[in-house]
Amino acid sequence: MFVIAIDGPAASGKSSVSRLLARKLGCLDVNSGSFYRAATWAVLDAALPLTDESAISSFIAAMDIQCTLQEGHTVLLLNGRDPDAHLRDAAVNKNVSRISSYPDVRRVLTNLLRSLGQRDSLVMEGRDIGSVVFPETPYKFYIDASEEVRAARRYAQGETDSIARRDAQDSSRKAAPLIISEDAHVIDSSHLTLEGVVSEIIGRLKMKGLNVTL
Ligand code: C5P
Repeated sequence: MFVIAIDGPAASGKSSVSRLLARKLGCLDVNSGSFYRAATWAVLDAALPLTDESAISSFIAAMDIQCTLQEGHTVLLLNGRDPDAHLRDAAVNKNVSRISSYPDVRRVLTNLLRSLGQRDSLVMEGRDIGSVVFPETPYKFYIDASEEVRAARRYAQGETDSIARRDAQDSSRKAAPLIISEDAHVIDSSHLTLEGVVSEIIGRLKMKGLNVTL
């Protein structure tokens, strides 16, 4: 079994890269941001005060989170409800970095993400996958892109999302900030195609001895 960690800032292209890579490798694709987005949606839906870290932490700790696998992807149910349609709501974009900065929220989601890596081979993308969730994996990548390219990508997706603000919050928080792990291979995707990034990753995986059969 293997875990491939793909970290990077917002709109760096890591979700598309992870999806395509997982498809090529025939393994599970886990978008950890969707777990943080789902938790944020549940907090907003429960109308909890967003600055009440202790109420939010207790709420998340008590929540029934079911994670099942469907066609190579994870499907979440929070207290029996499917958050999928709300994951990219403007209110979620706006508040997800705040909720993700709470250590007790991270503890719950990190445990859940780790349990997936114990069951299946997977590609997991996020902010702290190589640094905190699976620090022992030898397969770590950091996908970057210039601020202009990232803003243009998000705009093309038709979303209201201040990625610069989210990046600043994600990089400066105390718990599991976005960092480039020392042993991560950094790829600047600004001027690369999706296929180009994925083939660079596959080349690197082979070099590191992962038995890749495509
Ligand atoms: O990847 P995506 O941009 O959808 O992630 C949404 C937010 O979830 C990030 O801005 C960050 O605050 C949080 N996140 C995190 N740790 C991860 C993945 C996402 O804190 N591993």
